[in-house]
Amino acid sequence: MPVPLLDVNAQNHPLATELEAAFQRVLQSGQFIMGPDVPAFEQECKDFTGVPHNLGVSSGTDAILLALMALGIGPGDEVIVPAFTFFATAGCVTRVGATPVFADVCPVCFNLDPAHAASLITPRTKAIIPVHLFGQMADMDAIMALAKQHNLYVIEDAAQAFGATYKGKPAGSIGHFGCYSFFPSKNLGALGDAGLLATNDASLYEKARILRTHGMKPKYYHQEVGANFRLDSLQAAFLRVKLQHHSTYTAARQANAARYTSLLASTEGVTIANPTDCQCITKQDLRHQSSSPRIILPVAYPNNSHTWNQYTLRVLGEGRRNALKAHLQSHGIGCEIYYPLTLDRQPCYKSLPYCSDLSIAHRLAEEVLSLPVYPELTSAQQDEVITILQSFCLNPSN
Ligand SMILES: *Cc1c(COP(=O)(O)O)cnc(C)c1O
Repeated sequence: MPVPLLDVNAQNHPLATELEAAFQRVLQSGQFIMGPDVPAFEQECKDFTGVPHNLGVSSGTDAILLALMALGIGPGDEVIVPAFTFFATAGCVTRVGATPVFADVCPVCFNLDPAHAASLITPRTKAIIPVHLFGQMADMDAIMALAKQHNLYVIEDAAQAFGATYKGKPAGSIGHFGCYSFFPSKNLGALGDAGLLATNDASLYEKARILRTHGMKPKYYHQEVGANFRLDSLQAAFLRVKLQHHSTYTAARQANAARYTSLLASTEGVTIANPTDCQCITKQDLRHQSSSPRIILPVAYPNNSHTWNQYTLRVLGEGRRNALKAHLQSHGIGCEIYYPLTLDRQPCYKSLPYCSDLSIAHRLAEEVLSLPVYPELTSAQQDEVITILQSFCLNPSN
């Protein structure tokens, strides 16, 4: 039985009647740009972002770009970003003319290492962008303390973590801005591109709101150069339908992740990541970590509510991750490497002068493999993934 990595149809098709009604409402209204569904969606997002000011935008990438623009970050400024993330986190920094400075990450939660970030701060550092990768929040207490000490802005890239929490606080509600993506593969998926920018700060919100429409206030008078970062009324209408089911989807992802962990943990050569390693493992230890155990399962820290946008294994041993990927794919199991090349090694960033130790990020790029964890995954499908994965582990030649 083939199992896809993600099945957007399994989520959207059962909502066809509601989504078609939303489409009809927007079609009949004729208000395709900034119609009433946009502010209504922004209001409804408060339940998940936990902040008073929410701005619907064209994508998660544009949310990050708009946050940087609203904070006035530009040429001559440095912004610290994790080396192990989706490209947009750093690409937006470059697009405003600033320089991304790459920090290493934690081998347990895959997120920005605050101690390494601290070592990268210079007089030019203006901001730090923690990414809540795969649906688990970064160590925000340490990041906020660092930011306070050095007077830095914090932009949370919560593209994969809408609805996640850290010590009870929602992703995107702790820094100056929270940025979310509703790309179809994210936990709240639109029927196209969409995103959200959230902030507690009324004046930053007002600035971002004006920049979202070309810096225009009043109409046809431009105080600043903005751009077109608007969320379509149609996507807002679709997202309002899906937002009502978001908590159910999250619970299903959490149940799937828990089931993987409980069924896989007893397999020969498989272990669960140890949360305490985040604080005390040294890069040296990691390099010398033996190849037994050979597969490490992801873990949620007790103070986090993890939303499991991805369920990501570490497969130790040279070439073994790629071998497992090939094995799963040859049996029709969808899986993907998020991400195969760290940002410091991207061709477009070759010219950045860079010399800090990113060895954990580099190692993760060789080891990670994400399995299907989407809400509609059935037990039978998940059992199939587990059986095929175990057949790899139990084969002595692997
Ligand atoms: C998806 C994603 C983005 C970009 O979101 P888009 O809506 O695709 O523009 C940014 N950062 C991270 C970590 C992401 O996963």
